[in-house]
Amino acid sequence: MKLNNLPEAFIQAAPLLRKIEEAGFEAYFVGGSVRDTILNQPIHDVDIATSAFPAEVKALFPRTIDIGIEHGTVLVLWEQAQYEITTFRTEATYQDFRRPDKVDFVRSLQEDLKRRDFTINALALQKDGQIIDLFDGLADIDNQVLRAVGNPQERFHEDALRMMRGLRFVSQLGFELEAQTCLAIQENHALLAKISVERVMIEFIKMLLGAHRDQALKAFVATECYQYCPGLRPYGEALLRMADLPTLPLMNEEAAWVLLMDQLQLDVSDVRPFLKAWKCSNACIRQVQAGYQALLLRKEGEWTDMALYQAGLPTIRLVESVLPLVGKDSQLAEVEARYLALPIHQLQDLAINGRDLLTAFDRPSGPWLKEVLQALEEAVVTGKIANQSDYLLVYAKDCLAHLEG
Ligand code: ATP
Ligand code: MG
Repeated sequence: MKLNNLPEAFIQAAPLLRKIEEAGFEAYFVGGSVRDTILNQPIHDVDIATSAFPAEVKALFPRTIDIGIEHGTVLVLWEQAQYEITTFRTEATYQDFRRPDKVDFVRSLQEDLKRRDFTINALALQKDGQIIDLFDGLADIDNQVLRAVGNPQERFHEDALRMMRGLRFVSQLGFELEAQTCLAIQENHALLAKISVERVMIEFIKMLLGAHRDQALKAFVATECYQYCPGLRPYGEALLRMADLPTLPLMNEEAAWVLLMDQLQLDVSDVRPFLKAWKCSNACIRQVQAGYQALLLRKEGEWTDMALYQAGLPTIRLVESVLPLVGKDSQLAEVEARYLALPIHQLQDLAINGRDLLTAFDRPSGPWLKEVLQALEEAVVTGKIANQSDYLLVYAKDCLAHLEG
């Protein structure tokens, strides 16, 4: 098959292929961008595979960065863009079901395509639009099938992450796992335990964010892969229920985690250990905790002014975006307007600060200060008093009397 109208990104990168070919080597576009072009989907990164060895690639281009030279990858800076150029390679030395730490560079495109995970990812594209399809990837795209290249049992033994990649492609593309490929995942799902959590997490999140989350979650449970993902073992049924939710888009990783927390019906206090086991960043954990806590309240009723104030816009948007997935109406515009209309948005917006209180009451700093400031904050947010220093001082005096009373 020959593609006629190549996307602009390939046309811009074509001079690199020409340059490599003129030096006597082969070079092709490979990977996701080729697959997505055939699927008429937008493409992200244009990756290039070549018979030239890394040193030979570096000799051809003036601006290069070694980003993974031991795996054969050189980053080439070209005009305003950058391209990963990777030498054809085989991955003969797998240990422990993980991707190899050593690869062998080869001169054969066929060898390189053979080590790729799925047939739809094992297509190569020439700069003139000609597609090289050694494993019937085009037919599988036509039939919407995800099929391992070669023997699926062997391929998942070589690198167990491919099973999770398969599930995330189900979610992103809506394809079915081919029967033998699916069976091999079912039989080898326990090998996922060998894979680093970080790599599994990337695929898991992509799976949750995909347009066909429902289909992927069902396969995730049917193949039992979920059993070897952190914290999910007891939750097969909950994950299946999650597959029955409307497949509306989730806005980001945090929204995906919040929805998951809700479906697993975790306690808010369990969110941190759960996400720690997935090695999520602290920033992510904080956002998910805040989002989940607010979602639980919001499912029961409207936002209070204080809840809006404490949540802040990112959390408000996150929660409102998840609501339709759990069967509740989102009212983002109104809720945002209410938030923006709050008299203050942070403690610093109060017309007086801690120093003003210390001066006004002429007493040493202590726990009272924080308590009074919090009382002022709440009184202003809820509209009980106006944000003016004279009112605030009167109110503070009452608070203090109350505290000491
Ligand atoms: P995306 O659009 O999400 O980037 P992709 O298919 O390009 O999808 P990448 O992780 O960028 O996925 O990998 C690029 C290519 O490298 C894949 O298309 C596939 O050919 C190959 N590949 C990636 N990971 C593996 C793996 N674990 N085993 C075998 N081949 C892989
Ligand atoms: Mg890619």
